[in-house]
Amino acid sequence: MSNDIFITETTIEGGDDGSLADTTVAVKDNISTEGVRTTCGSRMLEEYVPPYDATVVSRLKEAGATIVGKSNMDEFGMGTTTETSFFGPTDNPAAPGHVPGGSSGGSAAAVAAGEADVALGSDTGGSIRCPAAFCGVVGIKPTYGLVSRYGLVAYGNSLEQIGPFANTVEDAASLLDVIAGPDEHDATTREPPYDEGADWSDSDGEIDGTYADAATGDVDGLSIGVPTELLEGADEGVVETFWDAIADLEDQGAEYHEVSLPSVEHAVEAYYVIAMSEASSNLARFDGVRYGHSADADGNWNETFARTRKEGFGDEVKRRILLGTYALSAGYHDKYYKKAQDARAWVKQDFDDALSEADVLASPTMPVPPFELGESLDDPLQMYLADANTVPVNLADLPAISVPAGETDGLPVGLQFVGPAFGERRLIRAASALE
Ligand code: GLN
Repeated sequence: MSNDIFITETTIEGGDDGSLADTTVAVKDNISTEGVRTTCGSRMLEEYVPPYDATVVSRLKEAGATIVGKSNMDEFGMGTTTETSFFGPTDNPAAPGHVPGGSSGGSAAAVAAGEADVALGSDTGGSIRCPAAFCGVVGIKPTYGLVSRYGLVAYGNSLEQIGPFANTVEDAASLLDVIAGPDEHDATTREPPYDEGADWSDSDGEIDGTYADAATGDVDGLSIGVPTELLEGADEGVVETFWDAIADLEDQGAEYHEVSLPSVEHAVEAYYVIAMSEASSNLARFDGVRYGHSADADGNWNETFARTRKEGFGDEVKRRILLGTYALSAGYHDKYYKKAQDARAWVKQDFDDALSEADVLASPTMPVPPFELGESLDDPLQMYLADANTVPVNLADLPAISVPAGETDGLPVGLQFVGPAFGERRLIRAASALE
């Protein structure tokens, strides 16, 4: 086993039968596992062992899955390369010498390397879709409220969802079938409504089948909107691979037209203000008293708190706590946080408009192919901009899937489909046509 994929290797056996019996699963290390340490890729939680399972983990066990490890990740989910992990980087099995993407890089790499059949990640601004694209596997970011966040260590709680990775769309959908659905421990979850657009060519108005049933590979009559803004500034080879995939879908009976999402120009700024603000609040609990690392400062509380956080958090996490605290502080709240919330509402409206003219939207998942290891760490702004195509979806609470679209210079390229709220089935159906 390559030990840069897992922070902790383990064997957690599930029940004897169920839809995931004989299936091995890697679980991102910000998802709580009872009795097995859950570090969030941070020194702060290096020794932290949760006393309970996240709801998704309970559901994995009930479905008979075997959890084989807690996978590497950017510290607290903050990053696009898995290089901000306290435990070191993960190599990309599909493109050695390159990053696996992030923040759920270990989970995507586990699937790409065959260390697990499927995996769970979390996606606050692209952390499932980016590593899926970079490692050449499938990743689904569910609609906000479809999957329970109970037991997920919060980074940007209004943005994030847990979701599946797999080698095929159908396997990712089967894992979604296991984890999706209301949970009494997470009041933001709900029963998904019927997706009227799931059966665009032969709608029978009948009840929904499973998510896995939707992987029919049939895109005859599918209408695809391509937001022009999400192609601007993208790498040439990535754009070429994207259009080849669209042509392939056209050959199978789909139709595409261009649409516009003018607000996405402001999405990265809005996302980082909101995500950092929420992070500064969510990470306040790591105070050296309740969880994990604790510095010893002879009983001086202020000194203990300061030293614990200085030693426990890495640079990227500190940067975000500082910026988030600043954005929320009296006098600046309206200038940054409120503006970002307004931009978020605008992004939602834009997606609603675009999706009224198309069944799904399509774009490259990432505007660039995977970076070389070590290439991007010095320039945080460059790294934030790489999230341009994924963060708008989280701002709008919508579902998206990244599916392998081909390669450019031997490096994997992912195609992202975005759908309306609770439109996972149509995404699964569309994506399965590219396999
Ligand atoms: N790269 C984005 C960030 O650093 C997304 C991370 C995520 O989805 N957890 O915030």
